[in-house]
Amino acid sequence: MTDLGEGPDIDVAVIGGGPSGLAAATELKRRGIARVVVLEREPVAGGIPRHCGHPPFGWREFRRILTGPQYARKLVSAALKAGVEIRTDTSVAGIKPGPCLTLATPEGVRDITASRVIYATGVRETPRAARLVSGVRARGILNTGALQSLVYLEGRRPFLRPLIVGTELVSFSAIQTCRHAGIRPVAMIGEGATTVARWPAGLFPKLTGIPLHLQTRLVRINGGETVTSATVEGPDGQRDIPCDGVLLTGAFTPESGLGRSGHLQMDRGTGGPVVDQFGRCSDPRYYAAGNLLRPVETAGWSWQEGRETGLRVARDLVGTQPPAQRQIHVVTQEPLIRLVMPQRISLPLSPRGMEALQVRFTAPARGFIEVYADGALAWSKPVDVRPERRFLIPLAGLTESHTNVLELRFTK
Ligand SMILES: Cc1cc2nc3c(=O)[nH]c(=O)nc-3n(C[C@H](O)[C@H](O)[C@H](O)COP(=O)(O)OP(=O)(O)OC[C@H]3O[C@@H](n4cnc5c(N)ncnc54)[C@H](O)[C@@H]3O)c2cc1C
Repeated sequence: MTDLGEGPDIDVAVIGGGPSGLAAATELKRRGIARVVVLEREPVAGGIPRHCGHPPFGWREFRRILTGPQYARKLVSAALKAGVEIRTDTSVAGIKPGPCLTLATPEGVRDITASRVIYATGVRETPRAARLVSGVRARGILNTGALQSLVYLEGRRPFLRPLIVGTELVSFSAIQTCRHAGIRPVAMIGEGATTVARWPAGLFPKLTGIPLHLQTRLVRINGGETVTSATVEGPDGQRDIPCDGVLLTGAFTPESGLGRSGHLQMDRGTGGPVVDQFGRCSDPRYYAAGNLLRPVETAGWSWQEGRETGLRVARDLVGTQPPAQRQIHVVTQEPLIRLVMPQRISLPLSPRGMEALQVRFTAPARGFIEVYADGALAWSKPVDVRPERRFLIPLAGLTESHTNVLELRFTK
């Protein structure tokens, strides 16, 4: 058990009670860390799965196929059983060195200090304003997350005949949500030549009788108080699709406002904090875990990442995780490479760090991915990648003690 005497208020503050935050907190308690508190802004912890009314969740964690809400409840009860304190209705409004967190609660605003912080606030879909879609500000223009909350948590139907914009995995789970609520989408559109989600997801609209229009973008939303149609532009020019709502799906972005307005170094590619292979941020008393690190992985992956981060923080608190003496910077100038995480490798290498660089592409691509260590080719592999598919580059062998920079390149 840690003994922090008159020091910080708590040992570890976890910001965000989704799969990654709850897994990290549960692991910390299992490792004997005394005061572990999850800070969750919603009235109930569990994160995004709370409103994903469909399976499959939970195989990796519980060896059972669960719906999202069942899975979220199991994560919360595992955390409580392990002795984690979960404070709901508690938004973290600011982060500072210390670490010191400013909390907004129903009782008011106050600061707490912690020995370590795990930042695990997840992702959200890009809202309409950031997509620069012109037209009316009518009811019935939603993201999947909002639709799932209305349908599964409130039993409401915000529209009956929406247009679905996007072809990511989440766009297909939006179809499932619509079907569950008796909503019949009029069509699904996507800008690419193929769906972003891999086969067989692309067959799903056909199987459910929903027309799929590829190479088609949303130009304008029409109507008054409610949506009456959407203007789209495809290979044959512009046309109006009558609909009573528009569902803007995917285009995930990390929920990283706290980091951007705080003191942590942020990464343009991932949109999340810069981390090393232990999930350690530029302020080494802050760690990050889950989908905040990069959009977007499944709940199971985020849970696993949270659990490993919990273990690393526990090791850090008891002094068995060595501090970084030197860091290798991981960089790329390649426009086809959207992100790489972690962005730093801390030396000396010690066990229990991430074993691979996670890479995502901006578009489907075939060629070679290459890693240069201080300008010399150190690793290369042929790839056939899609934007929704993670690509892993094993770190073993790339982190010689003299290396300063690892650079990722792509050649055809
Ligand atoms: C609309 C949508 C649908 C998805 N559907 C699926 C799916 O079907 N299957 C799947 O595997 N994955 C799905 N995902 C991916 C999802 O991100 C992961 O399943 C998983 O929830 C990631 O866990 P996490 O802990 O990283 O983040 P989250 O689950 O997002 O949890 C983050 C938590 O942090 C809280 N929080 C955020 N900011 C603050 C703050 N300032 N203070 C306090 N608390 C805060 C949030 O309220 C939330 O509870 C979906 C994502 C979205 C956005």
